[in-house]
Amino acid sequence: MVSHAPQTKSTIPANSPSSSFVQRHIGPNTDEIQQMLKFLGFASLDDLIDRTLPQAIRSQQTLQLPDAQSEYAALAKLKNIAAKNQVCRSYIGMGYYGCITPPVIGRNILENPGWYTAYTPYQPEIAQGRLEALLNFQTMIIDLTGLEIANASLLDEATAAAEAMSMSYGVSKNKAHSYFVSRDCHPQTIDVLQTRAKPLGINIIVGDHQTFDFAQPIFGAVLQYPATDGTIYDYRAFIDKAHEVGALVTVAADPLSLTLLTPPGEFGADIAVGSTQRFGIPLGFGGPHAAYFATKEEYKRQVPGRIVGLSKDVNGKPALRLALQTREQHIRREKATSNICTAQVLLAVMAGMYAVYHGPEGLKNIAENIHKLTLTLAAGLKLLGYKISSKDIFDTLRIELGKQSLEAILEGCQARNINLRIFDETAIGISLDETTTPEDLIDLWQIFAGKDELPFSIEAVTNSTSDILQLRQSSYLTHPVFNRYHSETDLLRYLHKLETKDLSLTTSMIPLGSCTMKLNATAEMIPVSWEEFGKIHPFAPPSQTRGYQILFQQLEAWLAEITGFAGISLQPNAGSQGEYAGLLVIHEYHASRGEAHRNVCLIPTSAHGTNPASAVMCGMKVVAVACDSDGNIDVDDLKAKAEKHSHELAALMVTYPSTHGVFEEGIQEICAVVHRHGGQVYMDGANMNAQVGLCRPGDIGADVCHLNLHKTFCIPHGGGGPGMGPIGVASHLLPFLPGHAVVPLNKSTQHSTGAVAAAPWGSASILVISWMYIAMMGAAGLTEATKVAILNANYIAKRLESYYPVLYKGKNGLVAHECILDLRSLKKSANIDIDDVAKRLMDYGFHAPTVSWPVAGTIMVEPTESESQAELDRFCDALIAIRQEIADIESGKMDVEDNLLKNAPHTTESLIVGDWTHPYSREQAAYPAPWTRESKFWPSVGRIDAAFGDRNFVCSCLPMEAYSN
Ligand SMILES: *Cc1c(COP(=O)(O)O)cnc(C)c1O
Repeated sequence: MVSHAPQTKSTIPANSPSSSFVQRHIGPNTDEIQQMLKFLGFASLDDLIDRTLPQAIRSQQTLQLPDAQSEYAALAKLKNIAAKNQVCRSYIGMGYYGCITPPVIGRNILENPGWYTAYTPYQPEIAQGRLEALLNFQTMIIDLTGLEIANASLLDEATAAAEAMSMSYGVSKNKAHSYFVSRDCHPQTIDVLQTRAKPLGINIIVGDHQTFDFAQPIFGAVLQYPATDGTIYDYRAFIDKAHEVGALVTVAADPLSLTLLTPPGEFGADIAVGSTQRFGIPLGFGGPHAAYFATKEEYKRQVPGRIVGLSKDVNGKPALRLALQTREQHIRREKATSNICTAQVLLAVMAGMYAVYHGPEGLKNIAENIHKLTLTLAAGLKLLGYKISSKDIFDTLRIELGKQSLEAILEGCQARNINLRIFDETAIGISLDETTTPEDLIDLWQIFAGKDELPFSIEAVTNSTSDILQLRQSSYLTHPVFNRYHSETDLLRYLHKLETKDLSLTTSMIPLGSCTMKLNATAEMIPVSWEEFGKIHPFAPPSQTRGYQILFQQLEAWLAEITGFAGISLQPNAGSQGEYAGLLVIHEYHASRGEAHRNVCLIPTSAHGTNPASAVMCGMKVVAVACDSDGNIDVDDLKAKAEKHSHELAALMVTYPSTHGVFEEGIQEICAVVHRHGGQVYMDGANMNAQVGLCRPGDIGADVCHLNLHKTFCIPHGGGGPGMGPIGVASHLLPFLPGHAVVPLNKSTQHSTGAVAAAPWGSASILVISWMYIAMMGAAGLTEATKVAILNANYIAKRLESYYPVLYKGKNGLVAHECILDLRSLKKSANIDIDDVAKRLMDYGFHAPTVSWPVAGTIMVEPTESESQAELDRFCDALIAIRQEIADIESGKMDVEDNLLKNAPHTTESLIVGDWTHPYSREQAAYPAPWTRESKFWPSVGRIDAAFGDRNFVCSCLPMEAYSN
């Protein structure tokens, strides 16, 4: 991908108005802000804010951040930092490989806001494009692994393995508490498994699968395929024995190798997991990449994460949506075995398209080339006198150094800008990939020969006869989608066709409460494509990643300043993973004080489902705290519960401002109560967009807090991921931040929590987005953004409250950065459900707000600071017009069953039917507002019957004919 950064320094002063990014990021201009304030009855923005936030928690100082930079200047600055990273050829492997992003995919998906600004497909009628792309991904995984069902991605291979362990624990019937982990798994996978096992009381046995005797009962096992040293084992005997004792076996498999090797599903694996990174996703110093999870159909209700499934719409037309949604919506709260919410949709879309682009033959060619080069490399190394200790290899060799010193090898590497894997003083690993050429082999041999002159020619050692014992016999990727779009023109049109089926921020505002769908500025996205950030292996030596270290240090310092904390861990890959990491930190803290028994986690009933799910994953007992009729935490109930569980109190999880959209006045008291009883306060920072610059979690009394960088700090949602969920902690918790098995992170290793993610800094490459945002906004810009976010929410609340009651307000009748509109009475008055309104909004060209969360029968609207007054008005006008349509039903003017809302959304096809029998016109159906005449967004399918799809579960591409029969 091309570099867009200016090479010279900006000559425009950073803060001159013409260069101000702040004005580009914030939707309303000065006049609009004044008009909205007037409408709300305030003289100034500060007036409004003074009446919204409790005085006691207001920050007295402005944030200490560098001055705001223009887009141009910030890019130039980041380019200088990027230049401190050294791009080397990586042969480290360990689950991360060089690869080629097909340019048509790089530009049209990764760099395309039509794809990256979409949200999780909660409104499937306007998300058929990415749902189809995800179905392709699932089909690819099902085919390659030989299993029956697959989900739509997980965070990374290591956490996918941990999810597999957790699922196995839940479904295995043998009541064992031990889990076998092959020592041939990647080390970061073993680390993440150990972290996950500990609080659940699972005993991890790391061992050699060839000698494990099953004397100790196990409920499951995980094996790496090919193993981390490159060996392709035949796991059949092990799996048979495991099944005899009732254990489930997970195989962590490299999907590219599966084009050549017998797939796990064919040799008995119950679950397969792995990373699809090498399917065209840049290394990015660890992420983001999409992991996969495949299993047998009998476990479909236990699968973690989301599954895209086929169903049909009202007209019987095949349509896609998230399957088994009721399962995921509440993430099963206390009964959870997983807390995964945000996944890696954008990367899964890219990986799936990589398979669409190359097709089965293309993928196999890539794999065969890599394999042949690896055999050739091995042959040359043997001639040079080295012993290769991995047997039956695909792309990875373990080389015993013998007499040659490690130092000499590393010197040779350095001279040639090459990174190899160091197993130990005596063994080196080399993994080849799609980018490897015959010339690269010569470089590699020269390193091992210790001189430039090789005693053989490449032709002499070229080995083209594969010796793979477990050759794959079955076919894969036979569906037309993988065989149809192999020219760039065809693929471009296919990508565009899917893109235009989806409503993203390129069409209109997406007012999803709690999700903060703000601008993802182009200047923020550009550095993601720079190869100085993209082509770095997560385990590259620190001397080559100084740019990344500077980026992390600066971002950590900024986030610490913004949150009022002493330190930050950038490891968690999503908010939910931040919750999990934060609670583990709290547990380790208690344990260090001899209070490991503290295991009660208080959680208000209004909390997001991930909160109780995370607590359960950390081995904690969830005790619910009631909310009062104003939506606030019931402080008396909190006091009573804290008192009752005083000796076991571990933590309170609290979202601030609350998920009810108000700044609770009692927050400091709430924190104090918990501290008085020896507990720690975990703040869910999903609503940080209402705090930045105005108040700080650390000052309010929280001990730890996660940030959703994909909400507050501009990482785009990507259709449901990637995300980043770093945590901030107070100083007493610093020693307990997550560590990493491969890359030492925490100085105080004796205390630190294990790894929570595969890569030491999570999805490092997208941190540039948040860095750019903060660099371009500065303290004043960030604070202004928060104020305008609050202004926008209050403007909407006031404009709509006489049509739809605002459920909760703060003490002065104001909301925070989002508001809940109560639609529950409409069921009785007009038989209108929340979904009817959500679907009707599509006819007006809008994505619905968050529906029925956190209160059933309501919608939660969060406009963010990036939407202008004109856009807010358009949205309000739509909801007001819909209220009139409902009034017509209430008054009997419109039929209760056959009406504009019940039949929404209206597709083009539904309009051109011959006999129009509805009691309203086609115009009213599809062109209900003036702007729809000018530019109309058409839902590509009608209302989807979700229940049908759940009864007839299909999660892979089927020929449409087969489906309609
Ligand atoms: C989004 C959200 C989460 C979960 O964050 P992910 O990044 O999706 O894992 C948790 N709590 C609240 C209140 C949220 O809005």
